[in-house]
Amino acid sequence: MVPLASLLAYELKNDVEENPILRCGLALQPRKGEDFALINTNCQRLQDDASSTFAVFGIFDGHNGSAAAIYSKENLLNDILSAIPPRLKRDEWLAALPRAMVAGFMKTDKEFQAREQTSGTTVTIVVVDGWTITVASVGDSRCVLDSQEVVSTLTVDHRLDSNVEERVRVKASGGEVGRLIITGGAEIGPLRVWPGGLCLSRSIGDMDVGEFIVPIPHVKQIKLSNAGGRLIIASDGVWDALSSEKAAVCCRGLQQPEVAAKHIVKETLRTRGLRDDTTCLVVDLVPPSNSQHAAPPVKKKKSSLQRILFWRRKGTHLSGALSGVPVMEQLFEEGSAMLADRLGTLSYPDGRNGLFLCAICHCDIESHDGISVHAGSFFAANGPRSMEGPFLCVTCKWKQDAMEGKQPLYSVVTKW
Ligand SMILES: [Zn+2]
Repeated sequence: MVPLASLLAYELKNDVEENPILRCGLALQPRKGEDFALINTNCQRLQDDASSTFAVFGIFDGHNGSAAAIYSKENLLNDILSAIPPRLKRDEWLAALPRAMVAGFMKTDKEFQAREQTSGTTVTIVVVDGWTITVASVGDSRCVLDSQEVVSTLTVDHRLDSNVEERVRVKASGGEVGRLIITGGAEIGPLRVWPGGLCLSRSIGDMDVGEFIVPIPHVKQIKLSNAGGRLIIASDGVWDALSSEKAAVCCRGLQQPEVAAKHIVKETLRTRGLRDDTTCLVVDLVPPSNSQHAAPPVKKKKSSLQRILFWRRKGTHLSGALSGVPVMEQLFEEGSAMLADRLGTLSYPDGRNGLFLCAICHCDIESHDGISVHAGSFFAANGPRSMEGPFLCVTCKWKQDAMEGKQPLYSVVTKW
């Protein structure tokens, strides 16, 4: 029997926020050589300030060549970070991150398309800052969180086959959705977007498939409980073979993330064979008090009193708590493909003589030349919200219109 005072001390101790220890491992089994992974555990919000360190992990699953995946791996993080105003406090920085991810994905997409290379890529990028996890994704490279009790998928699959909302959006923006038709009229394979024949509804790159394949990411931000957990970020080579639950459960008890990642890839190959590039990144968030042991901790059953103490925390969004223990607090989630929904209402002044920066590409725009992201379109920019920021330059506004089916398709594609 644990004395009440000990339990209260345990609870108080856990209210003192200590950052988790991060450990990660990567396993990959190439087939086409179009999967790429990003691991950077030493980013800093403030230059030369170790206390502002955060980590970034990403999976880029290219198609139609590897150029878009390589470009995104090399540029996307900088494009995201450059969309965050300088000198923010940590809470402000975290609050600005979801919007910056949208602007960063747009910028990377626009600048890659300017290279006139036809390849595309999925992206799932994960920023871990203390216990706060922010995930942005386009395509179907999934990120799964295993708290050792509950398995939660933090991403949404942008696949025509499984995502009804995306099918509706693509059709409303001028795309056609259907299966491949072979000689004789039979339909085969997954649902695809035409023109182009892509199975995904969102990606970076893909300049040859129509602007309704958008680079606007689904973004989710959570705060994990300080009991820790495991992230599994993987390309569809894994998810075509294993469910989120199965991938998480099959590596429980394997305490080294490298071993866990290898085991997931092995399970994938055993289930389905090597049909695609198969890449798996495992990241463990380990409570500092457990750091001398391998990660993540296997949760012990909590006593009734501990459960009551956990349940009493106010303002905590409980997610899928099978045993009644909150595993995470959701801070933000948004998946709209409409840019005006995603960039908020803030402008991005750069402080130089009234000039503004385009919210996407950061080029200088005269205040009277910027077009509001909330304006109806480039050709109808005098709507009721046309004076509200953020503002876009002409080419970025043109791109926004094209993504929403307000511009002729190929006149835009050839513009970049
Ligand atoms: Zn711009």
